[in-house]
Amino acid sequence: MAGLARRVWPVTLAAFVLFVVYEAIKTLMFPRMSVVVSHVITVLVVALLTFIVSRYALARYGEALAEIERQTQMSEETNRLLIGVLATMREGVLIVDRDLHIILYNDAARRIVKLPADDAAPHLRITESPRRLIDATRDPLINQTFRRALDEHAAVEARVEMAEIGSRSYQLNVAPLSRTLAVGVFFDITELERLERVRREFFANLSHELRTPLTAILAYSETLLDGAIDDREHNVRFLEKLHKHAARMSEMISDISDLSAIESGKVSLDPRPVRLRAVLNDVLVLAEARRGRTGVTVNVTVPDELMVKADRTRLEQILYNLIDNAIKFNRPAGGVTISAEQQNGRAAIHVEDTGVGIAAQDLPRVFERLYRADKSRSRRTEGTGLGLAIVKHLVQAHGGEITVRSELGCGSRFTFTLPLAASPASPAELPR
Ligand code: ADP
Repeated sequence: MAGLARRVWPVTLAAFVLFVVYEAIKTLMFPRMSVVVSHVITVLVVALLTFIVSRYALARYGEALAEIERQTQMSEETNRLLIGVLATMREGVLIVDRDLHIILYNDAARRIVKLPADDAAPHLRITESPRRLIDATRDPLINQTFRRALDEHAAVEARVEMAEIGSRSYQLNVAPLSRTLAVGVFFDITELERLERVRREFFANLSHELRTPLTAILAYSETLLDGAIDDREHNVRFLEKLHKHAARMSEMISDISDLSAIESGKVSLDPRPVRLRAVLNDVLVLAEARRGRTGVTVNVTVPDELMVKADRTRLEQILYNLIDNAIKFNRPAGGVTISAEQQNGRAAIHVEDTGVGIAAQDLPRVFERLYRADKSRSRRTEGTGLGLAIVKHLVQAHGGEITVRSELGCGSRFTFTLPLAASPASPAELPR
């Protein structure tokens, strides 16, 4: 368009020169031509020229308009794509100007810093009356990071913690977009850091758990080697201790390899319709050894006909671990109740006890590997701290979920769900 406009002057000049030449030739070649005829010819020539020039100009004008339309469409398409990408990103994106005024942000950013929500608008907001970053977040580190990126014209990183939104941690990367704009991206690293902490604690706990029996094994074997082997009064007792600690290590190592096999999906399940009550009866026989003389009573209120779809051996393992804990962490002469019901098209199985309970701060962590809630009590009771981690993975591998409710000093209630299997038509068909 600008090109066309610039050509107006040369075209006008050329038309003027052409007209002068035309008038000169006409006067020289036809000196006797009447004024009327001369005017008529001139008008015809001008009309013809005007027609040619305007056709040319209009054609060019049309082309230019089509090009503008194409470019507008392209940039609208690019904008739509950009908005779509930004809006669906899990990372918070904030663009600020030189004065640290927020000029654009996505939905995820709105959840991290204080920015207005407008449900009718798309999930990306270009602020018309920009608000200051300092008003959206009082965190000085966030403000400093954006300031530094703009001043130094370089990418800057920071780790920020947002206590107001449930103690979440973010990795903030700010990069300059131009001399006057900077874009900041907030990556949520809360889960990553939690996993890293769980991993660190797992190895710390593991070495602690293995060191205890190992130290005992070394001590007893050294005592035996130092002559106690001939001490008829004590040698058998020492050997029994050696055996007990070695067995504990072996149990732990087999639990760890079991857990890692389940976690990595190497354990293949064979889910079939099984009668919950029948599995439970077998598990209760095994748990009898633990119940022993504790005086703990076990009540079962599981409907006889309740069928679940599960791998029988793994279901036994799940139930055994939960019932074993319910007896182990109970008070003398306490109670354990096992019940089950249909809930939202699934079977919900509850193992409830009147035991020591679990403190609120420990509850979210009892399913972690090697996590033991009450350290002093748990150390005294047998166990590896791996049981519940195994149970959780096995329940999940069956497509179920496990939850726990507990009150310190009153007891705990573990609930897990399993898919239901169709009940047989008659009791005679019940699998044993
Ligand atoms: P373990 O029983 O071998 O210590 P688990 O993984 O089965 O390991 O349990 C982890 C921790 O959770 C236990 O050490 C205990 O502190 C707590 N816990 C589990 N079940 C119960 C329960 N029924 N009552 C009280 N605390 C429990």
